[in-house]
Amino acid sequence: MDVPDANDDSFGIEVILPDGGKTAPCCPHGPTLLFEKVSKGGEKGRRFYACSACRDRKDCHFFQWEDDKVSEARLLAREAENQSKRPPLTQQERVKRFKKLGSLRLDEKKFCQDCQMLLLPAEHEAHSSHRSVGVSSAQLRRPSVLLRPLLNKKSNAQYLFTDRSAHFLLDSLAALGYNKVLCVGTPRLQELITLRNLEGKHEPMKSLLLDIDFRYAQFYSQDEFCHYNMFNHHFFDGKASNAVLQAFLTESEGGKLVMVADPPFGGLVKPLANSFSLLSQTWRKLQSSDGSGADMPMMWIFPYFFEPRILECLPSLTMLDYQVDYDNHPLYKHGKTGRKQSPVRIFTNISPKDIVLPKDEGYRFCSVCQRFVLSLNKHCAKCNVCPSKDGREWKHCSTCEKCVKPSWRHCAPCGRCALPDHPCGLSEGTEGCFNCGSLKHKRKACSVQDSQRTRSNRPNAKSGSKNVSHCPNQKPKAKRKSGAARRARKLAAQSE
Ligand code: SAH
Ligand code: ZN
Ligand code: ZN
Ligand code: ZN
Ligand code: ZN
Repeated sequence: MDVPDANDDSFGIEVILPDGGKTAPCCPHGPTLLFEKVSKGGEKGRRFYACSACRDRKDCHFFQWEDDKVSEARLLAREAENQSKRPPLTQQERVKRFKKLGSLRLDEKKFCQDCQMLLLPAEHEAHSSHRSVGVSSAQLRRPSVLLRPLLNKKSNAQYLFTDRSAHFLLDSLAALGYNKVLCVGTPRLQELITLRNLEGKHEPMKSLLLDIDFRYAQFYSQDEFCHYNMFNHHFFDGKASNAVLQAFLTESEGGKLVMVADPPFGGLVKPLANSFSLLSQTWRKLQSSDGSGADMPMMWIFPYFFEPRILECLPSLTMLDYQVDYDNHPLYKHGKTGRKQSPVRIFTNISPKDIVLPKDEGYRFCSVCQRFVLSLNKHCAKCNVCPSKDGREWKHCSTCEKCVKPSWRHCAPCGRCALPDHPCGLSEGTEGCFNCGSLKHKRKACSVQDSQRTRSNRPNAKSGSKNVSHCPNQKPKAKRKSGAARRARKLAAQSE
């Protein structure tokens, strides 16, 4: 069967967010996402459902054409498979187990490294041929150190914050008065909050971890962890988790909540933005009437080259200059020069002037921009911004009338700035126009009518309305292919 791959770079693959109409079929990771291949020439391909969480068919092989008639037998087989992939314990069993573990003597506590689970005394025997170790109370409080990070880039991509970054996040949030943190895919932050509370030196904070990595459930009580998929806003424990979330999002007297999310970087921006919007909506509904119009404060941690895409989906966010770095990611380490600088930034709807970036790490306040920036990010009087995105000093090109990367030179034939060894004569990328296929112009400049664009601009068109992204205030050009994001990422990695 010639099935399209949602990750194939040669096509534009667009995600069509659920609009409350048809319900998507489920894979072991909850409701699947509906994809549509957009080919050169602008005509739209057949739509298909694929896994929301795994970007590699090897990890989740679910595939279904939107118009497929699925036989009863196949539905049953699918349901059986989904069942078999459920975490082994029910919510209730889990709570019981957590309590039991809590009551054990220190020398009775063990962790099986092969199975990545905490063992009750009765289970030691069954794991005797495995590598297991005793665990101290201190280790129990640091699950992100005890558990082996899942490094599959196309699904979990667990990259853990360095102490520097984790403390920066937490100190900044505390300074802003937040005392409830919704940790979405940030297990290490959650852990740091617990440790900080134990120190007893600060105002206590509450946290709730939402993560797809079920191993974390062993370390937390029912109201500290929910098994969650952030690409389809799916809670694996259904009602029970929803109750936990609702209780957490309700700000009682003096409570001030913020969400911090650090999704896998290979993930699609649009479904993530949609999930965060849904979380924000739930939060808003639960607040007393006075703050009715507000958005839930959030920090979304993601590489800088996704800025345009993220702002398209969530225009209320701004990108901060702060470089987030990771313990187990060789490329994303902090450094003052060259390639060592992490490309990962914080996107937030908290006012940037209120988030103080550390002076001793080379940040300063720009009084014109009213935000903290890297010292090398010099304010440009012509553009009236501190223009650098990648941490290097950018320079102004008077022909392009904007600031560009230091390694770029203005190219007269191309009419723009580019790397000195760029394929000259071809404008951005080599694909030319995505609408009509011409290599002479980009889709933006295309005069051939763009079927998609006109359709999604017509609010009443029935077929079109399905196509409109759920990102608020989305501009028409938002119908960009997800492949573009990946290409952008690759480009950013190469373009020096
Ligand atoms: N820097 C963070 C970890 C980020 S790694 C920290 O130190 O705390 C990405 C995290 O997102 C991992 O914890 C991973 O398990 C989780 N994750 C990956 N895919 C997910 C999904 N589809 N839904 C929810 N969480 C996911
Ligand atoms: Zn799946
Ligand atoms: Zn074992
Ligand atoms: Zn400035
Ligand atoms: Zn130029």
